[in-house]
Amino acid sequence: TTNRSLNFGAGPAKLPLEVLEEVQNELLSYVSSGMSIMEMSHRSKEYVKINRDAQAAIRELLNVPDNYKVLFIQGGGTGAFAAVALNLLNRTGTADYCVTGTWSSKAAKEAAKYGEVRLAFPVPKKLGQIPDQSTWTLNPKASYVYYCANETVDGVQFHFIPETNGVPLVTDMSSSIMTEQLDVSKFGCIFGGAQKNIGPAGVTVVIIREDLLGNAMKVCPSVFDFTNVNKESSIHNTPATFSVYVMERVFQWIKRNGGVAAMEQQAIAKSKLLYTTIENSNNFYSCPIDRIARSRMNIPFRVGGENGDEKLEKLFLEETEKLRMFQLQGHRSVGGMRASLYNAVTYEDVETLVNYMKEFQQKYG
Ligand code: PMP
Repeated sequence: TTNRSLNFGAGPAKLPLEVLEEVQNELLSYVSSGMSIMEMSHRSKEYVKINRDAQAAIRELLNVPDNYKVLFIQGGGTGAFAAVALNLLNRTGTADYCVTGTWSSKAAKEAAKYGEVRLAFPVPKKLGQIPDQSTWTLNPKASYVYYCANETVDGVQFHFIPETNGVPLVTDMSSSIMTEQLDVSKFGCIFGGAQKNIGPAGVTVVIIREDLLGNAMKVCPSVFDFTNVNKESSIHNTPATFSVYVMERVFQWIKRNGGVAAMEQQAIAKSKLLYTTIENSNNFYSCPIDRIARSRMNIPFRVGGENGDEKLEKLFLEETEKLRMFQLQGHRSVGGMRASLYNAVTYEDVETLVNYMKEFQQKYG
């Protein structure tokens, strides 16, 4: 038995219990070395193997083609906003950004420090929408087209891969990597911070097409220079060794549990359960996101009508916390509630939440 809470946090977020127990077992002495992996050199044979195994697992889980490199960097998703521009924007000096929420907006601002940033479409007046691709204008000379596959704050997710007619596609999958099957060959570069679906904070996964390497700007810090990081197999300087180690264990857990295909099926089932509860609540609960752009990972909702009733929302948070359901508060910029249903969150966790939502509505609706 454990005293684990139900954790619907947006990140850092719930990790699989099995993985945490494995880490606990190995904490004081990693494979009879008499020391924790945290206390070991990043050049040790133990760590070098973890680094290699983690990269191999990503290749296997996402069917990464041979002409792509898998890298680990630090600096989080935000570091990758700069790294992408520093590595790729030099090719033509201009890039197209799809702004559909908080994180793509921040990425566009960061990239604008290093070159020209054009918007593929005007920022939707009301977030929660992805304009139909027929309305976009893409620059055929862009260095790349950028989009955020899943907007963690806003609850907006792309359920299609944009067509860019040969211009490399770059995507931020910080909150959706390993939650859906992916045709990596459609992308120039994919990146994602680990702290939502695949591990603790501290490491960012980058998957990049080989031919795009070698274009970094002169000012690019060496720790962000993908060509350099690749040459050193992601051990250019001291990596976030413990984070990479836990992430590697999460990958093995995903493999044991049916791989990314199974994660995708579960994500569909879990999110459907919550959206259906919202839809069937006679507007007591409401979700402002266009149906076709709704996220399977982060589900924002209001309590007490379309604009939310702040008193009821406060009460909802208090009552759910009494039942040990945590981190349900929406992002401070949007208010309301948000339930994040990452890979480690079980169907049963979501059932507990929706059952309580129904009870709460009966009591206060
Ligand atoms: N992109 C997305 C989609 C995110 O959800 C986040 C963090 N929540 C970031 C980027 C920024 O990540 P970090 O905090 O690791 O810089």
